[in-house]
Amino acid sequence: MEYKNETVSIEGGWPMEHWQWKFESLALIRKTLEALREKKLLGLKCPGCGLVYFMPKPYCRCLSIPDEWVEVKDTGTVTTYTFTGAWAYEGIADEGPAGTPLIIVGIVLDGTDTMTVCTLSDAKPEDVSVGMRIRLQWPENPEGKLEDLAYCVPL
Ligand SMILES: [Zn+2]
Repeated sequence: MEYKNETVSIEGGWPMEHWQWKFESLALIRKTLEALREKKLLGLKCPGCGLVYFMPKPYCRCLSIPDEWVEVKDTGTVTTYTFTGAWAYEGIADEGPAGTPLIIVGIVLDGTDTMTVCTLSDAKPEDVSVGMRIRLQWPENPEGKLEDLAYCVPL
């Protein structure tokens, strides 16, 4: 497959409020990423409706500003999933380098109300289901990067 590295322009105006939102989001996410070094997961709780966001967000869907940092668990529930690789389609050979499918799961960590995504290890595609319980698979030495959250395993 050929990948193109090109910039796409979208015409129209961009209200500056969006830039402010972007910078606030980066500051919040930075705090969460730094906590990963200690194998801590920090979510942000909304005072208006109680939703806990992981990753944190500067504004809640109820229009309040989430402002309470809460530690959330590294266990959670699969809410959606998909697989990579042609192996899943009968009659089509898998041309991937490893020859094994990746299982990508959407998960809601215990104590949060929003979904995040990671790769499920130690499981076969036929074993995955919505509602499946998982635990994050921490790297030995987390570096405070999104990659620290890249893998989870069945509970
Ligand atoms: Zn809210």
